[in-house]
Amino acid sequence: MENYQELTLKQQSFFRSGKTKDLTFRMEMLTKLKDLVSSHEQDIIDALKADLNKPEAEAKRAEAGLVLGEINFMMENLSSWAARKEAKTPASHAGAVSFIVPEPYGSALIIAPWNYPFQLAVNPLVGAIAAGNCAVLKPSELTPHTSRLLAKMINENFPEEYLHVVEGEVETSTALLKEKFDYIFFTGSTGVGRIVAEAAAKHLTPVTLELGGKSPVIVSEDADLDEAAARIVRGKFANAGQTCVAPDYILAHRNVKDQLIAKLKEAVTETYGENISENPDFPHVVSERHFDRLQKFLGNGKLVLGGYSDKAQLFIEPAILDGITWEDPVMQDEIFGPILPVLVFDELPEAIESIVKRPKPLALYLFSDDEAVQDEVLNTISFGGGAINDTISHMTSHYLPFGGVGDSGMGAYHGQASFDTFTHFKSMLKRPAK
Ligand code: NAD
Repeated sequence: MENYQELTLKQQSFFRSGKTKDLTFRMEMLTKLKDLVSSHEQDIIDALKADLNKPEAEAKRAEAGLVLGEINFMMENLSSWAARKEAKTPASHAGAVSFIVPEPYGSALIIAPWNYPFQLAVNPLVGAIAAGNCAVLKPSELTPHTSRLLAKMINENFPEEYLHVVEGEVETSTALLKEKFDYIFFTGSTGVGRIVAEAAAKHLTPVTLELGGKSPVIVSEDADLDEAAARIVRGKFANAGQTCVAPDYILAHRNVKDQLIAKLKEAVTETYGENISENPDFPHVVSERHFDRLQKFLGNGKLVLGGYSDKAQLFIEPAILDGITWEDPVMQDEIFGPILPVLVFDELPEAIESIVKRPKPLALYLFSDDEAVQDEVLNTISFGGGAINDTISHMTSHYLPFGGVGDSGMGAYHGQASFDTFTHFKSMLKRPAK
């Protein structure tokens, strides 16, 4: 097995030199990264096309664009976030002053998934740099073109004792996880999240786990069905359903279910055209293994839209399944593909109960303008984050920390939350010497 001790020792030594803590250095490195992302935009688009058939507009917006937005936001706010903060001092400690010193952890390990293989690798890196850390990044092996590009961009432009990309498969992750890092930031599946947490526990290394799960959409009887259908389709079928916060399934009120399905079908045609298999911009499923796993679900319940698939192209047409129950195979794990099951409920408490007795979702979406319904859902269901009358949009706000809870993860990032995640806040009390 590969051995990364030398790399981690080099990073620890560079970190101890104090260079990465310097605010000017951090700003220079963020500027350099920003320039690299801008100047490689076409390479990023090409790599994502080759790996996932990701359309150019999506690659620009949801990968390179999101990263550039995050870097800009960091640079605008870094000096205030990195400054010492005054804290109150209790009367019992009269004569002393209190303050908090934000300090970087040291060397961070970032392990990334394949679904947004550029953005989900580089955004955590931006947080690590801004907070003043060194970092080792392990991209996903399932998107090899993006992995290679990341290695080229980072390893040719930054010294390895500061930032380094290590490409490889599970064994590479396993070997990296044997080393002692000061922070681990993992994005991926819940199962692998457990393995990462176990490895981190051996060194008592703090972790952020950005995991997945089955994210529900509740469509209440009062929902605006036209808007609900359009917004569900946009969140579900973007990236062929391979988005961690994509709606996994719909829980629709029985009285509106049929109408909703009719509108969902219209919204799919409006968004992707009549013959989606001929749409050159519809993304592919990432691998044959995922294709086979997904194709089996097409036989669950009653297929009311889609059904066409082509293994040679790793293409699965957007599909909607009616008449689904919790016992169906499609409801056992996160789907992570362009297949949308619809279940019904009669009373809201019944829908809530079916969610809360299962693992806590990464996201939840509610379509209803009724504040009593909104409050009931928010007060009774625990989930990472979500939206009311929309899907997935909470993920792209700099002002909303993004992360899961329970089986969908721990910790959060984006905007200030990214800076805070890669920062230890050192609490200090100072008394006069005499
Ligand atoms: P994955 O867990 O299979 O792989 C993620 C990373 O871990 C890859 O770099 C992989 O090489 C590595 N890895 C795989 N097996 C490992 C092992 N045994 N030991 C150590 N490392 C290992 O996840 P994936 O298939 O790349 O991504 C899909 C999952 O990620 C979905 O569950 C999705 O919901 C989740 N996800 C979550 C977020 C989020 O922000 N919360 C974002 C994207 C994806």
